[in-house]
Amino acid sequence: MKHHPKPYRARFSPVFRVGSRRASTFLTQVLGLFLVGTLTACIGGPPAPLGQPDWVNMEPSWSRLDAIERWLDTAGVRADPTQRLEAELLLAEGRLDFALEDRARNPNAHVAARVDSALDGFRRVQRSSAANDSQRRRADAGLLRAERLDSVATARPLPANVPSGAIPRSVWRAERADESDMARASGAWRRLTVHHTNMEGVPAPPPGAGEAANAAYLRRVQRAHMTTNNWADIGYEFLIDMDGRLWEGRSLTWIGAHAGRSGTVNNNVDNIGISLFGNFESVAPSQAALNTLSATLDSFRTRYGIGRGSVYGHREFKNTACPGDVLMNWVNRYRGTAAASPPRSSSSPRSGTKSRVASLYGFPTDDDAVGESSSASASAR
Ligand SMILES: [Zn+2]
Repeated sequence: MKHHPKPYRARFSPVFRVGSRRASTFLTQVLGLFLVGTLTACIGGPPAPLGQPDWVNMEPSWSRLDAIERWLDTAGVRADPTQRLEAELLLAEGRLDFALEDRARNPNAHVAARVDSALDGFRRVQRSSAANDSQRRRADAGLLRAERLDSVATARPLPANVPSGAIPRSVWRAERADESDMARASGAWRRLTVHHTNMEGVPAPPPGAGEAANAAYLRRVQRAHMTTNNWADIGYEFLIDMDGRLWEGRSLTWIGAHAGRSGTVNNNVDNIGISLFGNFESVAPSQAALNTLSATLDSFRTRYGIGRGSVYGHREFKNTACPGDVLMNWVNRYRGTAAASPPRSSSSPRSGTKSRVASLYGFPTDDDAVGESSSASASAR
């Protein structure tokens, strides 16, 4: 490629001339190059010593994509990894944009090849250890858009017992659950437990962040549950973002992992976990999220004949701040226990139900004991 170090030469050639006029030896030039290179590295930091690639300031167009492609095959090979990833992302995003434009003009446009190469690009960015957070987020968002484009075929319809409007796992590209490590649910759901996700160091998308950002966050939650907690899948059955979307989490086919254990009793049995994105110890969820929570609770209560009194906050099962004071107050208002009430009696999961649950379902030894069991004893006051 001929367009490599133009700006570089323009900027530094006077130095070379001064340095090499008298001696004019190859050695001096090499030395000069070395010194300038070192200086640039010290002063300028990471930007590649090859200079800015020509595509950096180009308007989005096919010729820009061509330029990026050429650069990746030539000068880009030796470029800083972050810059290479930037090129990969721009290329994938551009291919996808053009595919979407073509599709909008002609619904039968053949865009599969372009979408496939965009998908490959986004996946390379996702897999790269050099990708920074913002690049990873763009790759996540790109993958979601790309898959939506060809998607409808792959989206699995939701089972009948899932509230309408829930976004299926297939759409947010959930990791496959390890079904060999989960216990089948009885299907006789009789309690509902509210949580907040409270992901350490990973802020939840604010209201208006959009579907792709929330899907990416949801994948982070699932990853944390599967890798840090070593669970077979995301723990909650449903999740709600601050725009009020309802997302399908762990399938209702299986017992969840969200309420922990009390001694030998698995609190997740017949218990649907619904988690709001964020931390609600001192701030309130958005009204959109609360509306969805209320509608979801109502929907399950109607379908399974669950009384308002069987709606819980996570902290009622174990020693945890979840779902946060503010959301816990909301739960109290929802079920009509808003006044500072004494510990609940027979319907409370802390007392009456334990032995009944244990004798009905035994003590499944699935993955879900891991991680939640340690503090479970704290709740058995
Ligand atoms: Zn919780």
